[in-house]
Amino acid sequence: MAKKQFKAESKRLLEMMINSIYTQREIFLRELISNASDAIDKIYYKALSDDQLVFDKDNYYIKVKPDKANRTLTISDTGIGMTKEELENNLGVIAKSGSLAFKKENELKDGHNIIGQFGVGFYSAFMVAEVVTVISKALGSDEAYKWESRGADGYTIEPCEKATAGTDIILKIKENTEEDQYDEYLEEYRLRSIIKKYSDFIRYPIKMDVKGQRPKEGSDNEFEEYVEEQTINSMVPIWRKNKNELTPEDYENFYTEKRYGFDKPLKHIHISADGAVVYNAILFIPENTPFDYYTKEYEKGLELYSNDVLIMNKCPDLLPDYFSFVKGMVDSEDLSLNISREILQHDRQLSLIAKNIKNKIKSQLQSLLKDEREKYEKFYKAFGRQLKFGVYSDFGANKEVLQDLLMFYSSKEKKLVTLDEYVSRMPEDQKYIYYASGESIERIEKLPQTELVADKGYEILYFTDDIDEFAVKMLMTYKEKEFKSVSSGDLGIEPDASENTSDAEEGETKDLFEYMKNILKDKVKHVKASKRLKTHPVCLSTEGELTIEMEKILKAMPS
Ligand code: ADP
Ligand code: MG
Repeated sequence: MAKKQFKAESKRLLEMMINSIYTQREIFLRELISNASDAIDKIYYKALSDDQLVFDKDNYYIKVKPDKANRTLTISDTGIGMTKEELENNLGVIAKSGSLAFKKENELKDGHNIIGQFGVGFYSAFMVAEVVTVISKALGSDEAYKWESRGADGYTIEPCEKATAGTDIILKIKENTEEDQYDEYLEEYRLRSIIKKYSDFIRYPIKMDVKGQRPKEGSDNEFEEYVEEQTINSMVPIWRKNKNELTPEDYENFYTEKRYGFDKPLKHIHISADGAVVYNAILFIPENTPFDYYTKEYEKGLELYSNDVLIMNKCPDLLPDYFSFVKGMVDSEDLSLNISREILQHDRQLSLIAKNIKNKIKSQLQSLLKDEREKYEKFYKAFGRQLKFGVYSDFGANKEVLQDLLMFYSSKEKKLVTLDEYVSRMPEDQKYIYYASGESIERIEKLPQTELVADKGYEILYFTDDIDEFAVKMLMTYKEKEFKSVSSGDLGIEPDASENTSDAEEGETKDLFEYMKNILKDKVKHVKASKRLKTHPVCLSTEGELTIEMEKILKAMPS
């Protein structure tokens, strides 16, 4: 039997697409500008293999022009243009991408910048436009054509006049309704901010006529309006620049421009990866804890660009929770984008990039710790708690990544020290890494339980953050040394022979202890003679895994 072809109801398809693919209307401008950039790029690539064609960069640009009186927005480019057939094929057939075909024909591989691939972006114009008119003249052709459509009910094509090669896309912007506002797409400041947001790094100038005021000549207090053509986009993305060309100020400006934070970055990390997955990234460790950082409102994530075009504002999959304080962006050509260029399905490249980034952040933090101790301590005061949460969550699965980044206050050094520093200073006879928990350093210093350990000359780590003890319970050991609370029953310290309480002494105190136990009843399990006290008459200690401090926290937690 002869096979029949599916027929798509293109009217329905178009409506469905326009209304469901994109979550934000403003991206229509990103799509049309990307197409314009592709059209210029095509001349560039053609010129590479065609001696007749010269690519003089100054002749190529994109222009965005609102006209409030006529309610039109025009996006023009000096790119390769479209013939009548191309208008039919590329704009008349949904999901047909002339750009994807171009890449295949010209065998463009890595390093190219052509953005289009799905053949749907153009139709996003119908989210804001009642009528879309395309006037195009193909490079090297004498004829220009006008394509026009109101969306669902098809399109017309007819010959028209156009002086030079390229394309004008004229959008008749919809009228405002009660629910939907469209006027904003005719406002200069709004268009400018959309261009900045999504298309700042398009490699050709995106120009607009910008109104300004200046003092009238020959007058002190009179002003006149003037119009000036300005380039809105910065064009060369900082992440494509060579690290050697960039100053710390360049990175700081980028951080501020992008509004990653109101503070300054404590450190930037610039990655240009060329291995299994190709990507560029600029990451920042902020100087201060964002005010909402330890709340549910805080959203982690990095900006994700594909070929210098913003795809996603906050891609959470790029960062593990314990590095959620990192800000910045990633740009990659290798991503398999879905059709709306918004959400990425579980992409293998993306997880490779995420893994790579995680390792980079770790090693950069380690070198900060090694080379710029003060900065590291500043970082640790702002975000150390998150690292400790990271150790605690996932049942210690992140131990390897995080354990060397932890710091605790030391009884000996009277400042923050790392576990590595602690262990490397341990006397040979010391079996455990000792810690004491309490509300504050001052309070811990007064704990009777610390006496014996301190007297032995052993260092004690002070845990003042409620997560501390839970975190080391997950670590279990560091460099094969177990952690031990100074208030646990068995401290693993051999008492000196002279200090041993004899059995006789225990006999003498037996009655006293029984008396005390009777009074304290269920409040304590036993009353015993202790070998750890020096100057204090009495202290509390625990048996088993939980220390008194942990019990307090667990009791305080809502059940
Ligand atoms: P995509 O960009 O993913 O290919 P679009 O729907 O955005 O899909 O565009 C469809 C096709 O129309 C493009 O692939 C390109 O061939 C053509 N096209 C769109 N805009 C222009 C333009 N400004 N100049 C030249 N060709 C264009
Ligand atoms: Mg496109």
